[in-house]
Amino acid sequence: MRLGHLFIISGPSGAGKGTLVRELMHRVPDLWVSISATTRIPRLGERDGVDYYFLTPAEFAARVRAGEFLETAEVHGNRYGTMRRPVERRLAHGMDAILEIDPQGAFQVRKQMGRSRLIFVKAPSTEELEKRIRHRGAESDDQIRTRLDTARHELELEGTYDHVVINDDVPRAVDDLVDYIRSVSEPDAKDL
Ligand code: 5GP
Repeated sequence: MRLGHLFIISGPSGAGKGTLVRELMHRVPDLWVSISATTRIPRLGERDGVDYYFLTPAEFAARVRAGEFLETAEVHGNRYGTMRRPVERRLAHGMDAILEIDPQGAFQVRKQMGRSRLIFVKAPSTEELEKRIRHRGAESDDQIRTRLDTARHELELEGTYDHVVINDDVPRAVDDLVDYIRSVSEPDAKDL
């Protein structure tokens, strides 16, 4: 039976990964998108079980001890993690799955899952990235500086990814993502 592919969308915070993944869900409806767990406080409008599973630090730690996570990372003082079981179940049933996670998590998953593909999403420039993070208005100046510092480190990793998408224009970037996903997924589907 065909095993699904695991696509990992990663890259600096503010590059627009979330927007691209939402658009991708409309364009490729049979892609399954994993919902992460986090200890971060929900932002305005975010819903538990839809945007994230919002956990207390103690709940998160208990799940780590129980081996429930495929990967975890600390990003800007909060913990994030991908639940192992739902991902493995979808892949075993032949569905393609998407994770939208930070680079630390992306490399942990690549080590464990041979069929994963790492996709790096970046803003067209660091000036544009800063503009987007500021425009979001969700962070203090200190938090923005931390995010930009992290972004600079993450940009150095670009060359180790399987595919790079420059998010200069959302429809164009989504076309690029759809083409890449199909190029990986469809040759396999023909072998069924
Ligand atoms: P935000 O707090 O802005 O939603 O996300 C902050 C960063 O955490 C983003 O780069 C996002 O991709 C990453 N992230 C979200 N979920 C996960 C996860 O399950 N694992 C890892 N490693 N990173 C995640």
